[in-house]
Amino acid sequence: MNHDNPAAIPPQPSAPHFIRAIIEEDIRTGKWQGRVETRFPPEPNGYLHIGHAKSICLNFGLARDYGGACHLRFDDTNPEKEERQYVESIIESVQWLGFDWGRHLYHASDYFDRLYEFAERLIDQGDAYVDSLTAEEIRAYRGTLTEPGKDSPYRTRSPAENLDLFRRMKAGEFADGTHVLRARIDMGSPNINLRDPVLYRIRRAHHHRTGGNWCIYPMYDYTHCISDALETITHSLCTLEFEDHRPLYDWILDRLKGAVPCHPQQIEFARLNLTYTVMSKRKLMALVDGGYVEGWDDPRMPTLAGLRRRGYTPTAIRLFADRIGVSKADSWIDAGILEDCLREDLNTHAPRRIAVLEPLKLILDNYPEQGEETCLVPNHPQKPEWGKRAIPLTRELYIEADDFKETPPKGYFRLSPGAEVRLRYAYIVRCTDVVKDAEGNIVQIHCTYDPDTRSGTPGAEKRKVKGNIHWLSAKHARPAEVRLYDRLFLNAHPDAGGRDHLAFLNPGSSRTIAAYVEPALAQAQPEDRFQFERHGYFIADRVSTTPGGPVFNRAVSLRDSWGKTPGSP
Ligand code: ATP
Ligand code: MG
Repeated sequence: MNHDNPAAIPPQPSAPHFIRAIIEEDIRTGKWQGRVETRFPPEPNGYLHIGHAKSICLNFGLARDYGGACHLRFDDTNPEKEERQYVESIIESVQWLGFDWGRHLYHASDYFDRLYEFAERLIDQGDAYVDSLTAEEIRAYRGTLTEPGKDSPYRTRSPAENLDLFRRMKAGEFADGTHVLRARIDMGSPNINLRDPVLYRIRRAHHHRTGGNWCIYPMYDYTHCISDALETITHSLCTLEFEDHRPLYDWILDRLKGAVPCHPQQIEFARLNLTYTVMSKRKLMALVDGGYVEGWDDPRMPTLAGLRRRGYTPTAIRLFADRIGVSKADSWIDAGILEDCLREDLNTHAPRRIAVLEPLKLILDNYPEQGEETCLVPNHPQKPEWGKRAIPLTRELYIEADDFKETPPKGYFRLSPGAEVRLRYAYIVRCTDVVKDAEGNIVQIHCTYDPDTRSGTPGAEKRKVKGNIHWLSAKHARPAEVRLYDRLFLNAHPDAGGRDHLAFLNPGSSRTIAAYVEPALAQAQPEDRFQFERHGYFIADRVSTTPGGPVFNRAVSLRDSWGKTPGSP
């Protein structure tokens, strides 16, 4: 079953929010002649995470809903930190989420020539100058939140002198860090972003696309607004930390009026914060580089690559994005909401299967030595059309170790000496004996079964017992590696207040066990998803599964059990 085909994803009801209201008003007034063009502009310096998914679903979702286009633009102005592997993973993740940019795939580096021309234009207009202060001096001259900055002595250079210096910066005549190009705005502005921000710096670095063509690189704020304008974006959506940059966005485009095709509107919204998670690429990279996880796609990571391996579906993530909505208020979203979205999706799509995670041998003493019969098990309790499959029953079975207690606590309705349970889809059995090893560990239990209680035969269900446990025939069960995951952090806000998230890692966030699964599961294909009855939703790991050798990751338990079930993995 393929849950990853976007065509199979039903359109989700999209909640109204303030950005929709702005767009609808713009359509009504004809501000953009009805056009809606958005973009998702990742910097290729890491893998996308669930926070990016919020932005992707918002930008691509709006374009879809209003008949517009959404561009995928790599914001690749930072040569040192960017790598091709990140570009590839970003493309894969956006496609996996089910979105299509059509012909609108761009790179900020595509605009390096244009950006350079616009910089010369700003210089001509007296709106930019070459500054030759050192980086420390520039910082000192910038002032603080409470004190205004002061003008650089180079601020009054003539356009001709600036142009000459800027061309020589480009030609590689100067060492890194000796000169920068700055906007000439206002060193006394209360908004530090307007205190003559740097537009270009000299950086001799290999760029993943332009190679060694350039030794000067444009800054983010300068590049971003011009890229938006060149692509005729109408609504440029970004997170709230860019609110203070909006005056600069507008200043640059105002100064380039007539030279660029349009002046998009920047609109800010609150970024996603998720409990028990860190969301900055830098912090995620620290987890990868420090070996705390097995890579960017470790199933415990909040990256889209990690969530995919964990068993998340694009549908669940899109449902999540829709459910959390879009606003201007910063807030924390409970990690349980994301898990619930996955449960909701998988509950309808995942076939049911049987796995015994912590096996204990159970012997039916009164069952024929060579006897074998098949029990019919529904593939989905609410979907009779999915049919039933045959599971073999023999004299020796595996049950969950947890389903037997020698001294049962009050209210325990599963097996204990003398007690009865129903083997799900089969017979009622009574425990008659317990076998222990020299250290006193229980190694197997003996039972007798009641042949008149076979599930599905007339009258067999008349005798009721409270406990109902799953099982596998020992002879037919297939071994499988199963990985049980828990939250990566023990603290709900692992990086709050600037503290070190690495101090809150959950040492028990991953556990690999040797489990038994029903025969049908041995053929599981990478990314097949199932509900293992009573255990949760699992996916055949796309990296480790081999033909006939499935490795299952637990995506999510059946219920939100975080912190509630002592000893639960
Ligand atoms: P990080 O803090 O992880 O490095 P970033 O903002 O530097 O993230 P970009 O690659 O620049 O990463 O992000 C691309 C887009 O995704 C931007 O428009 C950004 O606003 C948005 N984005 C990033 N993080 C979140 C988040 N947590 N919630 C919503 N949108 C986000
Ligand atoms: Mg960014």
